[in-house]
Amino acid sequence: MEKIIEKCSVCGNYTEGTPTYSNDRKFVQKGTSAITTKIVGAIIGAIIGFLFGGIGSIPGMIIGIIVATFISPKVTEEIDKTLYKTTTYTFTCLGCGKTWYKIIKNGTNICVPDHILQKEKDETVAKYNKKASKHVRRLIVACLIFVVGLIIFINCDHSYTETFWGIKEYSNTYLFSLFFMEISFPGIVYELIKYFSNKNKANKYQQMSLSDFVKNKKL
Ligand SMILES: [Zn+2]
Repeated sequence: MEKIIEKCSVCGNYTEGTPTYSNDRKFVQKGTSAITTKIVGAIIGAIIGFLFGGIGSIPGMIIGIIVATFISPKVTEEIDKTLYKTTTYTFTCLGCGKTWYKIIKNGTNICVPDHILQKEKDETVAKYNKKASKHVRRLIVACLIFVVGLIIFINCDHSYTETFWGIKEYSNTYLFSLFFMEISFPGIVYELIKYFSNKNKANKYQQMSLSDFVKNKKL
C-alpha cells in the first residue's frame, strides 16, 4: 500500500494516513490471502517434489508456504487494487489529535478531488430527496382513498338490520367506505414514515462536511 502523508491543517504536523477498509473488503482480502498462500505453497511444493522426487515434496511444501507468506500480501494487494478503485485513508495527527479522511486512488497517491466528492455528495442528497418525493405522491394517493372512504362513510346509510343470530347487517356502501379507510390507513402511516426517513437522510448528507462524507463512504 502507498504511504500517504498529509500536513495537519491545525498544527502542521506531518501525519501518515492508514487505509480504512469496510468489513466486506477485509473479508475479501482475508479470502484472497488464504487462497494465494495455499496456491503458491502448493505450486512450489509440487515443483520441488517433482525435481527431487517424493522425498522432496515435504520440505518443498514447507519452503512453498514460507515463500507464499512473502508473495501472498503482494498478490492480495494486487487483487484488492483490481476490485476496488479507491481507498479511504484515516489521518490522526499525533500533535493535536485532529482526525480527517481522504479518498485515494489505488496504486497512486492521488487524492480524489474535492469537487468530485462534492458532486457525489450532492447526488446522494438528490437521491434521498427523490425517494422522499416519491413517498409524498403515494401519500397523496393513500390520503385520497381515505378521504373518498370517509366522504362515503359520512353520507351513507348507517342503519343495519339485525339477523336472526344477532349479527348486524350493514349496507354495502357502508362496508365499502370502511374498507376504503382500512386499506388506505396503514399506507398513510407507512408512506409518512418513509417520507421522513428519506428526508432525514437527505438532510443528514446535506449538512455533512466533505470529510465526514468521505468517512461515511469507507470503501
Ligand atoms: Zn495537528
